Amino acid sequence: MYRIELSSDEVPKKWYNINADLPVELPAPKNSEGKDQISTLPDIFVEECLNQEFSTERYITIPKEVRELYQRIGRPTPLYRAKGLEEKLNTPAKIYYKREDTSPTGSHKLNSAIAQAYYAKKQGVERVTTETGAGQWGTALSLASSLMGIDCTVYMVRISYEQKPFRKGVMQLYNSTLYPSPSENTEVGKSFLKEDPNTPGSLGMAISEAVEDALSDDKVRYTLGSVLNHVILHQTVIGQEIQTQLEVAEEEPDTMIACVGGGSNFGGSLFPFLKEKIKGNTDTEFIAVEPSACPTLTQGEYSYDFGDNMGFTPLLKMYTLGHNFVAPSVHAGGLRYHGMNTQISLLTHEGYINPVTVHQEDIFRAGQLFANCEGVIPAPETCHAIKATIDQALKCKETDEEKTIVVNFSGHGLMDLKGYETFIAGELENAK
Ligand SMILES: *Cc1c(COP(=O)(O)O)cnc(C)c1O
Repeated sequence: MYRIELSSDEVPKKWYNINADLPVELPAPKNSEGKDQISTLPDIFVEECLNQEFSTERYITIPKEVRELYQRIGRPTPLYRAKGLEEKLNTPAKIYYKREDTSPTGSHKLNSAIAQAYYAKKQGVERVTTETGAGQWGTALSLASSLMGIDCTVYMVRISYEQKPFRKGVMQLYNSTLYPSPSENTEVGKSFLKEDPNTPGSLGMAISEAVEDALSDDKVRYTLGSVLNHVILHQTVIGQEIQTQLEVAEEEPDTMIACVGGGSNFGGSLFPFLKEKIKGNTDTEFIAVEPSACPTLTQGEYSYDFGDNMGFTPLLKMYTLGHNFVAPSVHAGGLRYHGMNTQISLLTHEGYINPVTVHQEDIFRAGQLFANCEGVIPAPETCHAIKATIDQALKCKETDEEKTIVVNFSGHGLMDLKGYETFIAGELENAK
């Protein structure tokens, strides 16, 4: 079987919450000294999302309206066999990839954007705010808000705003209001600009602006596109669909792979399988792939740290490179976060997840090879997972093992061709 499609009534009816099955208790968020960050969370976040963040219910019903929208945007997404890549590598391994790039915005992010916009609207929120770096999350939230009939304000890191005119255009097309961050629209933005009028901006600054904007009005809430547990929860439709698709294909996965930024595509696609590993029912290997330029899981410390650069958030127990860490501007902008989702951090610490790093030069080479064998051009973030998949398939060739490898194809690269362009020109090493 080269393509496993499910019908639209096979969209999962529930999200899977791994909080119910963690092998040890998840360390709770903490206030930093002298501050009360936790009690202000309801003024910042959508209420139901906060409830889900701390819920220990194993399955949470997907609201009918959200499930219908999942169907309308093309869920379930197909699972493809990478036959061309297998032949090119001459590997006995079987490679399957889950096509999250088929979403209208080109990545998995819409799965959580729709849920968050839905709960915002239901609570009476009239406008959501957020930050975006590479632009994938801002695009997804813009579409979700438009579908739900609420307003959306996106603070886009200034350098991306200037370098990615097409992303900007797409968000505006979906009726979002866009500010290059730092902006004059918030007090904190003004202070950043006063310090350095030519600052390129950062995700940390953009988060501060989006949060300040949300706090300014009770009809406005802030949303986040990854890192938090409720975001991963919404993404678990991916993994549950893969489970059904592998049953159809009569396959058992030996190795499962996804890239990690904040952890939402990894957790969303693999938590339903990790559940079985925690119970001792399977010895599937789970590989989390990160850039060597931002090696959070492989070289970070497992300790309490802030989620943002400014220290506005409560402290979270996670793998972190330190909240002041600024990753070099690798092209995979979605993988530049200093921290990691707390559930993924815990499962890595307990030995259930195997993290690896890959180098920027190698990921684009892998992406190009994949595009030439399979046709689809992976997003730079997705290229990390593809590189690790190729490495595993080549290992199978050496050992002559017919393993089944499943990779989550988190998004396509058609809006991020700059990285490929730089790679093809042989200028990656010099690029800033
Ligand atoms: C945002 C993004 C990622 C990384 O983010 P996670 O939260 O780790 O999923 C990976 N791939 C694509 C295409 C993205 O847009």
